[in-house]
Amino acid sequence: MVTDIEIAQQAKLQPITAVASKLGIREEELEPYGRYKAKLDQSLFDRLQDRPNGKLVLVTAINPTPAGEGKTTTSIGLGEAMGRIGKKAVIALREPSLGPVFGIKGGAAGGGYAQVVPMEDINLHFTGDMHAITAANNLLCAMLDNHIHQGNALHIDTRRILITRCMDMNDRALRSVVVGLGGKPNGFVREDGFCITVASEVMAIFCLASDMHDLKERLGRILVAYSVEGKPIYASDLHAQGAMAALLKDAINPNLVQTLENTPAIMHGGPFANIAHGCNSVRATQIALKLGDYCITEAGFGSDLGAEKFLDIKCRLTGLHPSAIVLVATDRALKYNGGVSKTDTAAPNMEALKKGIVNLGAHIDNMNQYGVPVVVAINRFNNDPEEELQYIGKYCHERGADFALSEVFAKGGEGGIAVAEKVVKACEQPNHFHFLYEGDSPLEDKISRIASEIYGAKDVVYTKKAKKALKEIKTLGGDKLPVCIAKTQYSLSDDPSLLGRPHDFTLHIRDLKLSNGAGFVVAYAGNIMVMPGLPKSPAAERIDVTDDGRIIGLF
Ligand code: ADP
Ligand code: MG
Repeated sequence: MVTDIEIAQQAKLQPITAVASKLGIREEELEPYGRYKAKLDQSLFDRLQDRPNGKLVLVTAINPTPAGEGKTTTSIGLGEAMGRIGKKAVIALREPSLGPVFGIKGGAAGGGYAQVVPMEDINLHFTGDMHAITAANNLLCAMLDNHIHQGNALHIDTRRILITRCMDMNDRALRSVVVGLGGKPNGFVREDGFCITVASEVMAIFCLASDMHDLKERLGRILVAYSVEGKPIYASDLHAQGAMAALLKDAINPNLVQTLENTPAIMHGGPFANIAHGCNSVRATQIALKLGDYCITEAGFGSDLGAEKFLDIKCRLTGLHPSAIVLVATDRALKYNGGVSKTDTAAPNMEALKKGIVNLGAHIDNMNQYGVPVVVAINRFNNDPEEELQYIGKYCHERGADFALSEVFAKGGEGGIAVAEKVVKACEQPNHFHFLYEGDSPLEDKISRIASEIYGAKDVVYTKKAKKALKEIKTLGGDKLPVCIAKTQYSLSDDPSLLGRPHDFTLHIRDLKLSNGAGFVVAYAGNIMVMPGLPKSPAAERIDVTDDGRIIGLF
């Protein structure tokens, strides 16, 4: 079998200037980074400001297996398929983080014959956005520690520092560290930690900022610590936002690349879908909507996490909403939801499928709640038994959900035509989009609403710590913000072992955190790892570069 990287390396790429000119982008609006990658300049945004938007198509999924459901692959294939049926589509995706690339998941540039290229570049340093975000975050940390060292005029309580350093790598040894060791010249000793860059608030801000002005304002609003007197200290109190924004000056411009079939794809930003909102930058989505008749975009994990946040956080902020939602489901994940262990999901097992299919039902119901037409894309794997695929289709039909088989992994755009046709039709259907909750309802009500309507929980309980945090966040004005619930992606509940469609469970909120610059409140339902570790045999052991500079072993 040919691997993803072999397929990608055989692709006939067009120069990025040609991809851009097909979209009507002018030479001075494009900043090429080599031959096949480019950044889109602010002048393009300014020129297209009054152009009507294309239609927004959100790709989400059922609860995934640890390998992922194929949302990125489906999004890319759907974009290509749109081209094949004569529609002008632009794909908007997150850019990959190095952590998963070298860890367990492999690349995040699609798979098979539905990939974005140059995949090695995209998966490795790309245009340097991740490094710029890392630097901006760490500058803020350095300025904070320096402020303390230089006399601590703000009376920062070193036991109540909220920001941590970050790095774009999976490295469990950095989760908790002690900094400032070595005596007076090295500052004050204190506990610190690292998160992976994609889990930093700077990443969330980067993805929600509409322009440089907004970016700077949001960076200034980051709540960094409390003073000894209990007063909030913001990044603006350290005068950090200007220099942080300077580091992000080029990064803030979205990246243009192409698919294997030369369909334009904009990849920009990549926040986690649990402690953050989990989708590409607002700027990427906005410009894709100006450049294409359809913008195909993806939200992380299942609909309970990524899509809920896309709809309730990003859509609220931008005033955008999808014309259609594509729900990706696989036979394997449905069998996994029916209790089959993750190593056995490829084997035929109708019984497990029948048991696990309720998970698909829950996600269809979830998306229907928002009033947007839904199309189920059944992402076909090589050995999926025909009768099991038919059973999934029949189930969709009985629930009144439109569906189609997606074979983009094996066939590229050609394999996505059935889904594309359904999506075009769905976009013409009446749209009754509405948010799940009111923006100004109390935080507890917002959390209850998501817990009961989306997760299916019977109630929500808060730990003492969470209750205290809630009170504090309210005094800082956080009650008016949308919530971002951080929980496991494997279950609709907060317990990864409750598969299928759990009922009568309690959602446990153990803590809350104000992401003041991003503009949401994170509610922690369970322990969320913000600095992942590497597995026993990391993908890094198999990645290599030949003497003539060709990358091998990447997924
Ligand atoms: P997600 O975006 O939902 O996390 P991806 O599209 O990144 O999922 O796919 C996860 C992994 O599964 C990738 O390695 C991809 O190549 C692979 N994959 C996706 N769809 C298929 C398929 N139909 N057949 C085989 N492998 C697939
Ligand atoms: Mg993905």
